[in-house]
Amino acid sequence: MKIAIPKERRPNETRVAASPDTVKKYVGFGFDVAVEKGAGAGSSFTDEAFKQVGATIAADAKATLKDADIVLKVARPMMKDEGTDEVALLPKGATLVCQLAALQNKPLAEALAKAGVDAFAMELMPRISRAQSMDILSSQSNLSGYKAVVDAAAAFTKCFPMMMTAAGTVAPARVLVFGAGVAGLQAIATAKRMGAVVYATDVRPATREQVESLGGKFVVVDEEAEKQAETAGGYAKDLGDEYRKKQAEVMSEQIAKADIIITTALIPGKPAPKLVTAEQVKSMKTGSVIVDLAGETGGNCELTEYGKTVTKHDVTIISPANMPATVARDASTLFAKNLLNFLTPFVDKEAGKVAFDWEDDLVKGTLIARDGKVVHSALTGSGG
Ligand code: NAD
Repeated sequence: MKIAIPKERRPNETRVAASPDTVKKYVGFGFDVAVEKGAGAGSSFTDEAFKQVGATIAADAKATLKDADIVLKVARPMMKDEGTDEVALLPKGATLVCQLAALQNKPLAEALAKAGVDAFAMELMPRISRAQSMDILSSQSNLSGYKAVVDAAAAFTKCFPMMMTAAGTVAPARVLVFGAGVAGLQAIATAKRMGAVVYATDVRPATREQVESLGGKFVVVDEEAEKQAETAGGYAKDLGDEYRKKQAEVMSEQIAKADIIITTALIPGKPAPKLVTAEQVKSMKTGSVIVDLAGETGGNCELTEYGKTVTKHDVTIISPANMPATVARDASTLFAKNLLNFLTPFVDKEAGKVAFDWEDDLVKGTLIARDGKVVHSALTGSGG
């Protein structure tokens, strides 16, 4: 059985879907592993490092993917209208495992099915305990939360910790975090470690304890409304116009006092909630910094320009296009491990292949195309 790891071709993508550690494991299972030349370069993994653990280095994408049974990728394959037709390179009958953003890209799911490629969308992994080690959203969001604070500190003209020096006292930075999910909690922890005073808010009341346990101060908007804020799956709901109005009122005071704002708020399947208005940006001190991690779905700040750093009203607003890719080595290491953890239970060493259990909840939750058909209920609308 052959596993292929092609080089990522999407703009801003520096990660790779396997690390020397995971390749070593696949080789140990008795699989042939082909890594495209230079695939690990953006993550500081050399071809030599892959070779040493038993991979073959293939000259180009075509040679890497030839006769592959399983293709591991980070970003969804590009389609013809995106410049490079990566879907056309996938061999018929192969299984693709990667982040597909499948619910936002139905034509891609259809193209993969048409190409005879079985495909797993790893972002759809059910968020249950058994799947924690396979959860690419968590592994990558955690790094994004960390890097957002580091980037904010780099763009800030003041310091984070309080410093008492002979020349005078430097006040600590005041950091405000919107959304205390995986990225937000890591942002809080990082900003605290760097010496800032940290405030945070979230619609889900369960996050209060988590924020406080990291040393953050939790800002409550409307305790009563927030009792209804969480779905059974642990995600946030949209709480409507009245809540939004109250949130804007309560947060205006906090925004005006903040030096740094990190926004991470998302509502699955919907545009990112607008939590920082242009007026509120105007109220901030000159030199303040906003890092908006929700740019891809429209941004939490009204003045965010996705993929760009802009200065508005003397406030720097940073909206990274692919934050995990800016810490590619760690991001690739964890992403690669997520994929390995997903595949390992299905490895049949004697038969020398991966035999998926099509009834397994994690398989059913992530499989979007099989045997020429789109099969995920969220895409077929079958609800089953
Ligand atoms: P996410 O990326 O979907 O959203 C980020 C945060 O934004 C969430 O905490 C959400 O409540 C918050 N938010 C949404 N709208 C908001 C608003 N208007 N104002 C303020 N905050 C707002 O969330 P996530 O980081 O993916 O985590 C979602 C949940 O899943 C959490 O409960 C997390 O603990 C849980 N989780 C479980 C597992 C597991 O068990 N395998 C793994 C990861 C995460």
